[in-house]
Amino acid sequence: ATPTAIMAGIGSAAKHGILIKSGAALEQIGLVNALLFDKTGTLTEGKLQVTGIARLHSLKQEEVLRLAAALERHSEHPLAQAIVAASQEQRLVLPDVDSFVVHPGNGVSGLVEGRRVLVGNRRFFAERGVSTEELRHLQEEQEKAGQTAVFVASEGQLIGMVSLADRVRVESRETIGRLRLHGVGEIAMLTGDNRGAAEQIARQAGVTTVYAEQFPEAKYRRVEEYRARGLVVGMVGDGINDAPALTSAHVGIAMGAGGTQIAAEAADIVIMTDDIAKVADVAELGRKTLRVIR
Ligand code: ADP
Ligand code: MG
Repeated sequence: ATPTAIMAGIGSAAKHGILIKSGAALEQIGLVNALLFDKTGTLTEGKLQVTGIARLHSLKQEEVLRLAAALERHSEHPLAQAIVAASQEQRLVLPDVDSFVVHPGNGVSGLVEGRRVLVGNRRFFAERGVSTEELRHLQEEQEKAGQTAVFVASEGQLIGMVSLADRVRVESRETIGRLRLHGVGEIAMLTGDNRGAAEQIARQAGVTTVYAEQFPEAKYRRVEEYRARGLVVGMVGDGINDAPALTSAHVGIAMGAGGTQIAAEAADIVIMTDDIAKVADVAELGRKTLRVIR
């Protein structure tokens, strides 16, 4: 490899808002033939909207939202931001939280006004022995419609559910097309979200291979599986839940502006402006650089 070509490549990327942390990263992205994408905040805008609130036990919708938002105020997940925004629209006053815990790929928990509150998905509730049976049918309907629905519990009892919707980034489809054109033969989406929401977004983004309900560890193992097939694997993500997969890929790419610091630190390449088209730009730059090298 000629250091001059590498330096020129890294410099030109920097001018376009792409931080390439090493020469090796630039070479690897030039060789990539499998790219795995996270969904939320990567292929989608990650700017979710609350589309509905279900409630149980004669509680008010407002109360479900208030308890959920109190916890989510301490999470940086895109879904959390949407729940907090909805509570602000209703001018709810959010109480303080003790013992707040993030469960990546699952949900959040903490003490709100002395009550143990959980917000998260079915698996998270099942693990904690909280039944979601009363809202299961509604949740399945929401998921089939491409929504993400998270449950809310207080003191071990299901009290409601918040439905949210996200939008695919307008540039996602074209970016996927460009990558295929440049020889990235394997493109897949990895998400912790449900299958219904995952498939709807994948269809819009032009991605045909979808792995839904993937734990952070499952994302990591998926990367290992692609590596074991002899592919040069790139992973594109933005969340804490993507960090293990970003590290284990040959080249990890973080969507830096809207994503978490942890993802940016785990990655080899950081897209500073959250423009997914830059993933195709940097792949093309990598290929060009390799041609100069040889
Ligand atoms: P993605 O892979 O799409 O970025 P994550 O792995 O971050 O998604 O999250 C997967 C699922 O975990 C979400 O769809 C949601 O059900 C649940 N989840 C994650 N973070 C939170 C949170 N802060 N509050 C509630 N649920 C959450
Ligand atoms: Mg994400």
